[in-house]
Amino acid sequence: MKSFEYRKVSTLEEAFRLFQEYGEGAKVLAGGTDLFIQMRNKVLPPEILIDLKGVSGMDQVSYDPAAGLRIGALASIHRLENSPLVRERFGLIAQGAASLGSYQIRCRATVGGNICNASPAADMIPGLISLGAKLKIDGPNGERILPLEDFFAGPGKTNLRAGEVLTEVQVPPLPGPSGFHYAKHSIRKAMDLAVVGVAVSLFSNPQKTRCEEVKITLGAVGPVPLRAAKAENCLKGQKLDEELTLRAALQASEEAQPITDIRASEEYRREMVRVITQRALRQAWKNLTGGKH
Ligand SMILES: Cc1cc2nc3c(=O)[nH]c(=O)nc-3n(C[C@H](O)[C@H](O)[C@H](O)COP(=O)(O)OP(=O)(O)OC[C@H]3O[C@@H](n4cnc5c(N)ncnc54)[C@H](O)[C@@H]3O)c2cc1C
Repeated sequence: MKSFEYRKVSTLEEAFRLFQEYGEGAKVLAGGTDLFIQMRNKVLPPEILIDLKGVSGMDQVSYDPAAGLRIGALASIHRLENSPLVRERFGLIAQGAASLGSYQIRCRATVGGNICNASPAADMIPGLISLGAKLKIDGPNGERILPLEDFFAGPGKTNLRAGEVLTEVQVPPLPGPSGFHYAKHSIRKAMDLAVVGVAVSLFSNPQKTRCEEVKITLGAVGPVPLRAAKAENCLKGQKLDEELTLRAALQASEEAQPITDIRASEEYRREMVRVITQRALRQAWKNLTGGKH
């Protein structure tokens, strides 16, 4: 590994100054579970690592009924998996967290790192998109808010501008009765990236008899995590049953943009989108209605 400088900052302003000084040679360090592997494989040789873990408050998780859930970019995956607040109100996030890597990786890895690494197969991203999450991004020219869905520019590429840092993930309050599910298919049961990941959010009328709003996000089957908008439209205003969930799942599999790579072929991935989407829809509906409808 090429030698590099390391600086642990205690304020974002310090980080911005270092970004200005080192330009493209500077890289943010969070948990390092993606970054160090890329450095070891010489994909990435930074001049300086700017460690954000000394910036106080960046790992906080809080909830306010009006504002929703706020997750600091440095919150660990382990924390999101186990926080009673997240598990009770936003189980989709806890499910994504529980499916990521191993215990050791989850203790080290952060939600901000998972998002900024921009892997199409990242486990935290589909659920957050299906919950309508937004990102708070801070930079030398102030802060901006961007829907998570619009953050990705391609595999490993984001719309972060030079010197900007992701500081917070904002999840809006749930509009009413809701049901969620994240289904991940990987070659191995544990410690493996998704071949397909599907996150479903269903928001219903108060009687829980039909879906008012549906969000289906597909991971690992496109250059960036994708919403399956046509599949969502099949389900809006409907009571879910086997025929309808199959129709939506087939539609999602048409909307997917898989490629063949080391993990799976394009054809296999497309077929698994159908299977996994239907499974996720069934389970989300069951979670919403308690199996009553
Ligand atoms: C053995 C193993 C198994 C894994 N399994 C999975 C898995 O099942 N599912 C999965 O999704 N991932 C998996 N990963 C990948 C990795 O653990 C996650 O993507 C993790 O969430 C990355 O977070 P981090 O804090 O370690 O990021 P880092 O490695 O510190 O950073 C990743 C990238 O994001 C940038 N960055 C980090 N934080 C910020 C910020 N706040 N603002 C701007 N840029 C930032 C860094 O500069 C770097 O480019 C695995 C990794 C390993 C080593």
